[in-house]
Amino acid sequence: MNRRFLLCLMNRHAPSPEDTHWQSLTLASTCRGCGADIYRDQDKQWVKAAKARS
Ligand SMILES: [Zn+2]
Repeated sequence: MNRRFLLCLMNRHAPSPEDTHWQSLTLASTCRGCGADIYRDQDKQWVKAAKARS
């Protein structure tokens, strides 16, 4: 378990630049750490997309 993964668990993700794109009015990407679909929230934090809620 590395540090990146711990940050992912805390919902602090890292976008991969080549996957970053605008989705409507939000900046969306894929996390380099865990591969989740993420978006940038109003606080400029990259958080996991809430689409697939279980
Ligand atoms: Zn992540």
